[in-house]
Amino acid sequence: MRVSQLLNPTLREVPAEAEVISHQLMLRSGLIRKSAAGVYTYLPLGLRILKKIEAIVRQEMDVKGGQEVLMPIMQPAELWQESGRWDVYGEEMFRLKDRHQREFCLGPTHEEIITDLIRGEVRSYKQLPLLLYQIQNKYRDERRPRFGLMRGREFIMKDLYSFDRDEAGLDVSYQKMYDAYCRIFSRCGLAYRPVEADAGAIGGTGGTHEFMVLADSGENSVVYCPDCDYAANVEKAECKPQVVNDAMAEAEQQLVHTPKVKTIEEAADFLKLPKTAFIKSLLYQGDDKVFLVLVRGDRELNEIKLNNALGGFLSLQLASPEVVQKLLGCPPGSVGPVELPENLPVIADQEIPLMEHAVCGANKEDYHIVGIQPKTGIRLNQVHDLRTIIPGEACPKCGTPLKEARGIEVGQVFKLGTKYSKALGATFSDENGAEKPCVMGCYGVGVSRTMAAAIEQNYDEMGIIWPIPIAPYHCILVPVSTKDSEVVEATERLYQELQNLGIEVILDDRDERAGVKFKDADLVGYPLRITIGSKTLANGQVELKERKAGDTRLVSVAEAAQQVK
Ligand code: ATP
Ligand code: MG
Ligand code: MG
Ligand code: MG
Repeated sequence: MRVSQLLNPTLREVPAEAEVISHQLMLRSGLIRKSAAGVYTYLPLGLRILKKIEAIVRQEMDVKGGQEVLMPIMQPAELWQESGRWDVYGEEMFRLKDRHQREFCLGPTHEEIITDLIRGEVRSYKQLPLLLYQIQNKYRDERRPRFGLMRGREFIMKDLYSFDRDEAGLDVSYQKMYDAYCRIFSRCGLAYRPVEADAGAIGGTGGTHEFMVLADSGENSVVYCPDCDYAANVEKAECKPQVVNDAMAEAEQQLVHTPKVKTIEEAADFLKLPKTAFIKSLLYQGDDKVFLVLVRGDRELNEIKLNNALGGFLSLQLASPEVVQKLLGCPPGSVGPVELPENLPVIADQEIPLMEHAVCGANKEDYHIVGIQPKTGIRLNQVHDLRTIIPGEACPKCGTPLKEARGIEVGQVFKLGTKYSKALGATFSDENGAEKPCVMGCYGVGVSRTMAAAIEQNYDEMGIIWPIPIAPYHCILVPVSTKDSEVVEATERLYQELQNLGIEVILDDRDERAGVKFKDADLVGYPLRITIGSKTLANGQVELKERKAGDTRLVSVAEAAQQVK
């Protein structure tokens, strides 16, 4: 490829709308352009990178026995009604109607579609296990599409679904995917960690891990043990959906008279507090919604209070002790004194993302903290649960103090169990002829998000530093002059040689100053640059520069191609 022919509009200025480095650099290096909020076009270089990540994902899925399919983006409402998710999925789902007023959605995920396929095609245990995957656009009307490809409304996901005869089979499939994910993210050159996570809106009973790329811009907070392999998303919690959902519904009934606060700014305004002070004392911060509840064990429940005992917990919504008891899941009267852990103020200083409701139940001076995510019913129901995931506390496995880091969720593996197969009737007959629901798992990789995450971990002040396996081209040739015929000839020869060796090479043949070409090469982040200039060429040499290490060396022009190889 010749840069003169390439659509690669680079920008010198940092675009104002881009908050995080990957977004800035993808725009500046001409990899993507925005079409609408959270919706992007991939330009040629951006698409090459994406295809490389896809290829790695595809290989690792195939090695584990995955079979690639392609499911529709447009999905009929009926299937989602059957699974019960049409009504609960909420505003994140893009919905549309056809000319006959039939309802559809743009698939945010594909459990319904694939389970429908399997119920039609699988009859016998002999057809299982099955691992089916696709690499496909997904649509989610995210409340806050932002950070470029990191949180899009249209994005690319690899989703695999496993169908097994029993739990033991699911364990095998799960482990296969877990291992495949480790290989995928290692091959992409990323520093990542699998972390124990909570079950989330997708439901299901089994375990789940998220794969987190560690980066300061990450939206997730994870804790990990520096000495063993323990790591968890701080949201990780015990899941008792029904109890909590019922209690939550009741609590919400009772809370109608209390102020609803949707953003940190609103909350700070409402409380007449400086925003920074508020964030410091924030118990839980949702995506961009804040609900805090401090309930005291006594009867003074109907005024807004600032409570200093917990280092400044705030009450924005108030409930009765009965509601608290329900929320806590303990019988009436049992919300008694609970020992206050020494380090509770530490919890108060932690932002625990994605928690929309937090309840702090209290009895006089003694406090018990519970967090609830009402949509999913996830509950942190014991102080102990919280304590195990607090940085600085005892690793539950080996006792070493845990550390905290920010993470970008690039993938998740999930044991679904029989939730969808039961709801949609995806059954098979076992060895004895008994009809059984398939035991399912689902496994997602954010392909486009991985591209962004790779940049968050690999950049410097000059631009991106692509890990070789996902670089758009391995090597760029920069002739210092396009007028000097010796330079041009040597460049063209090298260009041919490198291509013959199977190296992905791009030639910056533009009639531009060398400085401009160097800036662009560093910005786009090609791992290797070869500069061909008349001075070094006089000694039969060209300059080889590694983008990552930054060091340059002179190599003989005759051996340059072999050196690159
Ligand atoms: P998040 O917590 O960031 O909203 P999720 O848990 O909702 O992600 P999953 O349903 O687990 O996402 O989807 C599988 C993968 O798809 C995620 O691990 C992530 O890498 C990717 N993904 C999810 N939402 C987006 C998005 N809006 N933009 C880009 N990638 C996404
Ligand atoms: Mg999400
Ligand atoms: Mg998530
Ligand atoms: Mg997830």
